[in-house]
Amino acid sequence: MVTQLDEKIAELKEQVKKLRSQKDSLIKELDTIEEKFESQDRLYRKYLPVIIDTVAAGDTHFARACRDLSGALKKGSSFVKISYIFEQLKTAMIKEEIGPVPGKKKKGIFASLLKSSANNFIDDFKQSYHDILNTLRSTLDKKYASRMDKITARILTAADTGDISDIRESIFSLVFVYISETNQDREKVNAFVQDIVGKILDIEAKVAISNDQTNSLFSSNSGFEILLNSEMNGLQKTSDMASSLDDLKIQITERLTSIENALNKKQLKDKAIKAVAEKNRNIFKSGFAKLKQELHKATQYSEQLEIKLNQDQLTGSFNRRAYDKKIEDEMNRFLRYGTIFSLLLLDADHFKHINDRYGHAVGDKCLQEIIKRSIPLLRKNDMLARYGGEEFVVIMPETDAAGAKEVAEKIRQTIEKIEFLYKNVTVTVTVSIGVTQVLEGDTSHLQIFERADVAVYKAKENGRNQVLVH
Ligand code: GH3
Ligand code: MG
Ligand code: MG
Repeated sequence: MVTQLDEKIAELKEQVKKLRSQKDSLIKELDTIEEKFESQDRLYRKYLPVIIDTVAAGDTHFARACRDLSGALKKGSSFVKISYIFEQLKTAMIKEEIGPVPGKKKKGIFASLLKSSANNFIDDFKQSYHDILNTLRSTLDKKYASRMDKITARILTAADTGDISDIRESIFSLVFVYISETNQDREKVNAFVQDIVGKILDIEAKVAISNDQTNSLFSSNSGFEILLNSEMNGLQKTSDMASSLDDLKIQITERLTSIENALNKKQLKDKAIKAVAEKNRNIFKSGFAKLKQELHKATQYSEQLEIKLNQDQLTGSFNRRAYDKKIEDEMNRFLRYGTIFSLLLLDADHFKHINDRYGHAVGDKCLQEIIKRSIPLLRKNDMLARYGGEEFVVIMPETDAAGAKEVAEKIRQTIEKIEFLYKNVTVTVTVSIGVTQVLEGDTSHLQIFERADVAVYKAKENGRNQVLVH
């Protein structure tokens, strides 16, 4: 008995010795760490405030956080306080995009969205719409300024997805009004609308990405829960087996219950978050689908307007406006590259007489028919336009006067063969055509038109229904 006790005591003494030596080495280690920490701490406290004061003279969140840090360091605040300020500094740095990034960072419209997290979802949208509005401001006239100001104000106060939808609608309706009212070149307007559409669709793409991320977050969470549940079951079994050790069992069971409770709470919270995310996603999804549709309609409408603006109402051919633009383009091409073109000027003969005799409606029909029959005789790049009244022009790119004359002759012959029936009387119409091509020394398209006009005049003088080249 006594020997057993002696042995036990010897064993315990041995253990105490071991623990003592462990304690000594731990204290030594701690001393070294502390020494190191203190020297670093001294270094930080000495130099950091000086550096910070130099850079923190601004009024940004970052600058304020810098000043706080400096103050805390100088005051000798606790480590906890300093790490808290460091966190704020980090947040401000991210928000204000301050960082050790070499060179100038390209700040795309959606740069902020790319680094978005679920927390500042709405802020990112606000930023993106703000950028869109800036684009609008640089394009739209002053008369839309108050509308734009209103939208800006709404962006600033937007708090939820409903507000974001409203803003999107207002931007769209502003764009639509602009498309309808503007007198600007339609091509430019279309390009502008496409740009805005592109930007808004970009946001949609980023929303999709952010939603995907949210979803994968949820799936990884539920994976985690499954794992934890199975661990819990394992623990339960262990504690069951060790039934003789009642204390252990009670302890483990308590632990398990608390884990279970925490998990249940977490599950409920996750469900609520997911429901909100789902709701937001649906709002955006339907909003964007509608927007896409509406913008598509707007683009179509703008294109229709463009066509209408260049179209002659009576004959459906191009009008004077379209002619002016095309002849200008051709002239510039000639001046820059020496690319030639020809011009035909057609004038219906004795058209006043046709109107007087058969009525204006028949005259109109003749004009429509002249266009209808002439177009198939032209090449794809030629442009036939109604210049005004009973006068038409044809611009023929990369065609010389000889080639143009051949086409003019074909047109003349085709038209003279048309027979209109009017109250059993056959009505015919003829045209006189002046032909010219751009010539060395021409500096303005007006000179070319002038020559074609002279040619028509001569054709009329010579007896009409003929082609004359100037
Ligand atoms: P010329 O052979 O010398 O060209 O004789 P013209 O009668 O054609 O010439 P003028 O310039 O004296 O008259 C042009 C006529 O064309 C007068 C006008 O009533 C007619 N006209 C112009 N535009 C239209 C239109 O849109 N519809 C109809 N039906 N007639 C038109
Ligand atoms: Mg005329
Ligand atoms: Mg005429």
